[in-house]
Amino acid sequence: MRNVVIIGSGPAGLTAAIYTARANLAPLLVEGLQAGGQLTTTTEVENYPGFYHAIMGPDLMKEMRAQAERFGTEFLSGDVSAVDLTRTPFTVTIEGEQTVETRTLIIASGASANMLGLDSERRLVGHGVSTCATCDGYFFRGKELIVVGGGDAAMEEATFLTKFATRVSVVHRRDKLRASKIMQDRAFKNEKIVFIWNSVVDEILGDTVVTGVRLRNVVTGKTSEVNCAGAFVAIGHTPNTKLFTGQTEMDAKGYILTRNGTATSVPGVFAAGDVQDSRYRQAVTAAGSGCMAAIDAERYLESHGDG
Ligand code: NDP
Repeated sequence: MRNVVIIGSGPAGLTAAIYTARANLAPLLVEGLQAGGQLTTTTEVENYPGFYHAIMGPDLMKEMRAQAERFGTEFLSGDVSAVDLTRTPFTVTIEGEQTVETRTLIIASGASANMLGLDSERRLVGHGVSTCATCDGYFFRGKELIVVGGGDAAMEEATFLTKFATRVSVVHRRDKLRASKIMQDRAFKNEKIVFIWNSVVDEILGDTVVTGVRLRNVVTGKTSEVNCAGAFVAIGHTPNTKLFTGQTEMDAKGYILTRNGTATSVPGVFAAGDVQDSRYRQAVTAAGSGCMAAIDAERYLESHGDG
């Protein structure tokens, strides 16, 4: 029987681990398939306080993990395949094999990249279709690329990809970007980035590797083809909450609802980070809510005579 099980190993989960480990609660953290979370697929993090010269996303996560381990966090690699929050102790099953009982649960399972939903996209993932410029940009030296989306992520990916590509076309479905002013300005100033407005991707072309995309202008209805060796999809995220459907309250988009800090609708279950935050979605806010969840879990255990 565990005092605390934490699901997720991004900034929220690891901060919750640091705090609960230092409170002598001997946390068990299940890392999930993408250990380290979304920051492992990003480059320089310039806005995490304490790093004047910025830090690479994967390095930041490595530091956080080491810090959590230093205070005695136990790690389990693999994905959670089932949870039962209908009775206490709660149960968490990992990879359909190992089941752990716990008095409290901190859900920090984050969010995943959205896809366009095309068959050609599914077929060519890993063969030119990517959701991670940091992971795959290097493979496209001297090539032409497209990035789909108009948010901060799309601007960040496009800007990063110009390190490798000869040209990056940003395909956006409207004629205005959603991205913050500073990210927009950076992209507009970059001579390698061009913008294709009011356009959606109808098809990703190529038999075994991406050779281009077929676009449709949503205003005129006209279609056109753009040659490219890679298509980076940056159209937002969906919270990883399938496991908890019907067991804890969520909003219409599937984000877990929290109140009074990080409490979910199930007493003893807390949620932190992007899994419950569709608004801020920053590493520092995720870490902050991970800290809150740890303190909330500690107080819950104390008030139930288990702390
Ligand atoms: P956003 O939700 O902000 O933007 C998603 C973009 O994709 C929008 O422009 C949207 O278009 C477009 N889009 C959505 N669905 C489709 C679709 N099916 N087909 C075509 N286009 C589509 O997501 P981001 O991932 O960009 O950012 C998420 C959060 O993370 C934001 O809060 C952002 O500020 C933050 N962030 C910050 C960074 C930084 O500061 N360094 C870097 C990356 C993210 P439309 O505009 O028409 O809705």
